[in-house]
Amino acid sequence: MSGSLVIVGTGPGRPELMTPATQAALAEATDLVGYGPYLDRVPAAPGQCRHASDNRVEMDRARHALSLAAAGRRVAVVSGGDPGVFAMAAAVFEAVEAGEPAWRALDIRVEPGVTAMLAAAAEVGAPLGGDFCAISLSDNLKSWATIERRLKAAAEADFVIALYNPASKARPHQLGEAFKLLRGCKVSETPVLFVRAAGTAEARVIATTLAVADATEADMRTLVIVGASTTRQVGRWIYTPRGARS
Ligand code: SAH
Repeated sequence: MSGSLVIVGTGPGRPELMTPATQAALAEATDLVGYGPYLDRVPAAPGQCRHASDNRVEMDRARHALSLAAAGRRVAVVSGGDPGVFAMAAAVFEAVEAGEPAWRALDIRVEPGVTAMLAAAAEVGAPLGGDFCAISLSDNLKSWATIERRLKAAAEADFVIALYNPASKARPHQLGEAFKLLRGCKVSETPVLFVRAAGTAEARVIATTLAVADATEADMRTLVIVGASTTRQVGRWIYTPRGARS
């Protein structure tokens, strides 16, 4: 029996936002590998083995999934959102690069999913309507100096900035630091959006400005969007026009 590995994302939370291709890949898998809460979003299939793990052991999880596939299992690695955005797809390829040569010949495929910034943007209008970028504030895998350099460059280029991983219990101060830096290079009326649990029934939005944005409003389930100079309000929506100021 020849094994396979598919890396999928469950979307932002609501079952309807999981793609049919992802649902089919999950239903066909003999083994599911992933962080417990993401596996809980997947409907049970008879005879399927679930290997739930802690959120912090991504490389172990990737290697485990690759060994199962090499042993002939049909494995699905489950992320939240899209699997290629700050998630397991890159971890799997890092493990392939550093691991057994035979892993390079495995049948590995990635299914796209709805990433948090798309669900968050849809909650408020179209803030990502012009050029935008995404930055993870987690410094588990890169230095804070790198994050600061990227924030500054994004602000100078007038991108809308989507901030993933804005805060966690282990990193309570970083979003405050990021706002401080951005206040030095953007106008104080710049719209800032905190979107918690986007794309779920519990979605909550705080729309404010850079001058008064309170970093303690964000937690691990929040996506923060910092507008460009053109991002504005119309009625109850926030959007960024498609064209830019020259
Ligand atoms: N692969 C995921 C992102 C993983 S990083 C994706 O594509 O969405 C985890 C971060 O994503 C969280 O700290 C938070 O900033 C963001 N996030 C994930 N789901 C979210 C949701 N439903 N609402 C708001 N932010 C979310």
